[in-house]
Amino acid sequence: MNLILLGAPGAGKGTQAKFIAEKYDIPHISTGDMLRSAVINETELGIKAKEYMDGGELVPDEVVVGIVKERLLEKDCEKGFILDGFPRTVVQANVLKEALAQAEKRVDVALNIEVSEEELVKRLTGRRSCKNCGKIYHVFFTPPKSKGLCDVCGKELYQRDDDTVETVKNRLKVYRDQTAPLIGYYRNKGTLKTVDGKKSVADVERSVILLLKDVE
Ligand code: AMP
Repeated sequence: MNLILLGAPGAGKGTQAKFIAEKYDIPHISTGDMLRSAVINETELGIKAKEYMDGGELVPDEVVVGIVKERLLEKDCEKGFILDGFPRTVVQANVLKEALAQAEKRVDVALNIEVSEEELVKRLTGRRSCKNCGKIYHVFFTPPKSKGLCDVCGKELYQRDDDTVETVKNRLKVYRDQTAPLIGYYRNKGTLKTVDGKKSVADVERSVILLLKDVE
């Protein structure tokens, strides 16, 4: 199953992508995670990407498409994949379509997680992630047992540089302008499925299972 996840920042794409990857035994490919790791390791890619990411802007298409195309050629993607955070522009969607067509593949489902903007701001500014294992918490909704520490591995939690109020507002604007048009793009292709992301994580997971039931 070749899946992509659509939805604004904070809609729960990362959480659902992890769930789907485990449930359907397919690799979870997050361009945000790949870029953040490149920034931490100060690679050429990371150096190029950092200033865009810190300001809540999109990294230029030509920087991102290369890493995704390379990743999709790896062996574990033969059984399918879930893309989280890519495509984010129509240019990226077209590149993806062509890259998959070369391997006689296609996007089977574009899963859109819908959440209101007010809710997104609340969610994003309270989000904390584990530096070590990536587990995501929220200071109000899903706080860790000990403040600032991961329940799973005990390591420190941090707030992403791009989760501050100013940057969050810009990321939502960038989403509206550049990424939201992909909803129509995939609707026209007949692959769009939408889930209400306002519900609890468990309820969203249940809806996702139902939506993916008939997909090969
Ligand atoms: P995310 O973790 O998916 O919210 O991504 C964090 C940041 O990484 C975004 O705000 C962008 O700056 C950058 N990024 C991630 N994926 C892409 C993409 N497909 N195209 C451009 N920039 C991206």
